[in-house]
Amino acid sequence: MIRVLLMLLVCFTFTYGQAQIIPAAPKGCGHDHYVHALEHHYPGFKDRVDQVLQDIKKRPQLAKDLEIYRIPVVVHIVYKDESQNIPEEQIKDVIDVLNEDFRRKNADADLIREEFMDVVGDPFIEFELAGVERVQTEVTFELDLLGGSLPDNVKQSAEGGSDAWDTQKYLNMWVCNIEGGSLLGYAYPPADLEHWPDGANAPSPELDGVVIHQEVFRRTGTHTASGLLGLDEVTIPVRGRTITHEVGHYLGLRHIWGDGLLSIIGIPDCNADDGVEDTPQQGSSSQFACDPEQNSCGSGEGDKHDMFENFMDYAREDCLNSFTKGQIAIMRSVLENERSGLIDQVSNTIAIEDNQDFQVYPNPAKGQLFIESSLKDNTSYQVRLVDTQGRMVHAPALGRPADRQTININGLPAGLYGLVILQGDKQYFQKVVIR
Ligand SMILES: [Zn+2]
Repeated sequence: MIRVLLMLLVCFTFTYGQAQIIPAAPKGCGHDHYVHALEHHYPGFKDRVDQVLQDIKKRPQLAKDLEIYRIPVVVHIVYKDESQNIPEEQIKDVIDVLNEDFRRKNADADLIREEFMDVVGDPFIEFELAGVERVQTEVTFELDLLGGSLPDNVKQSAEGGSDAWDTQKYLNMWVCNIEGGSLLGYAYPPADLEHWPDGANAPSPELDGVVIHQEVFRRTGTHTASGLLGLDEVTIPVRGRTITHEVGHYLGLRHIWGDGLLSIIGIPDCNADDGVEDTPQQGSSSQFACDPEQNSCGSGEGDKHDMFENFMDYAREDCLNSFTKGQIAIMRSVLENERSGLIDQVSNTIAIEDNQDFQVYPNPAKGQLFIESSLKDNTSYQVRLVDTQGRMVHAPALGRPADRQTININGLPAGLYGLVILQGDKQYFQKVVIR
C-alpha cells in the first residue's frame, strides 16, 4: 500500500475481527468478602482498591509473554549524486527508529490519549541491519499516477535499480528519490490475507519489500512535497514514521480508516474497515493533521475519536506513536506464517576454518580482531560476536570484502566466543578465544 500526500487508492475491504484480551480483575474466591471486611475496618479501602484496578486496566500491555521476533534488513541506497548517497550513520538511525516504534520504546509513546491506553501495546518486533547495497544510477523513479504503476524499477539492476537479497529471508528496503512529488513510500502486504483485496501482494517475489523516498528516510526534519494536480505545496514534519508505516503494511496491516471508496474523494466511508477490532471505526484518514476532535464515524456514547496516534493513519509524523494489540496480533501472525522465513534461524552454517572466503585473526585475540575476505563479490556482510549463550556482545558491524574489518574487543571478559558472519543467504562461523 502506498503512502502519498493525496489519497489515490481504490481498495475493497472485508470485515475481519481480532480478539482482544484485557486482564480480568481478581474476583471470586472470597475476594468480595475479604474486601468487605477490610472496608469495615478501613473505610474507603474498597474505593482505593477499585481505583488501583482501574489504573492498571488503563496501562499499556505489560512487557512480558511475547517472544521477540528479529527481522534482518537490507537497505538499498539507489542514488544519482553523492548528496543522495545516505551515510551509514543515518541508515542505522532509521533502524533505531524502527526498533523504538516496534518495541514501544519511542519517546512519544506516552502521548497516547487516555481513551486508547488500554488497546495499545508492544509488538516485540526488532530489526537489525544485515547489509547495505549502494547503486549509483541515471534512472528516474516515479509513480505513474495515470497508469497507476509503481517505481518497482528501483528493485531491479537491469532497470537501473538494485536487486533484492532473498526476499523470503530479508526485509529489503529501497531508498531513492521518488519523483513526481507525492509518493513518500510503498510496500506490498503478503499474499492471501483475508482482510486485503486479492492481488495487493507483490507482483513477483523479487519485488517484495519496502520503498522509501530518500527525503523521509530519516529521524528528524521536514519534507516539502511539490504541489500536485494544482494543489499547494505541503510541508510535513519527518520523524522516520513513513518507514514504520510501510513496514506495518509489509507485515499485513491496512490503513486504519479501511481505504473505503468514498474516503478517496474526501467523504468518510464508515462501512470500510481495517480488519482490526480494537482500532476505532474511522472513515477517513487524519489528513496529515492531529485534530483531537475529529470523529469521522461518531456513533454515540462510548465511541472513540479518530486515532491519529496510530502508525497506520495518515497523521502528522510527530503525532504517530502507537500500534494496537489487534494490529500487533496480525503482524506477529504474518511473521509466524506468511513471512516466517524472516525469523527462522539460518540452518546451513559454513565453518570459517574450512573455507577461504574469510580469514579471522589473531586467535586467540586481545584488543582487536581483524576480518579479511577473499570474496570477489563486494556485497557487504554483517559481523556478530556472541558469547557461549548465543547473546550478542558486540553491536553488529558491517564490512565489505574489499576492506579489512576491525572489531574492538577491549573490555570483553576473557573466554570463548563465537564470530558469526552473515552475507546474503550464507552464514559463516568461527570460535574465537579472547584473552
Ligand atoms: Zn499506507
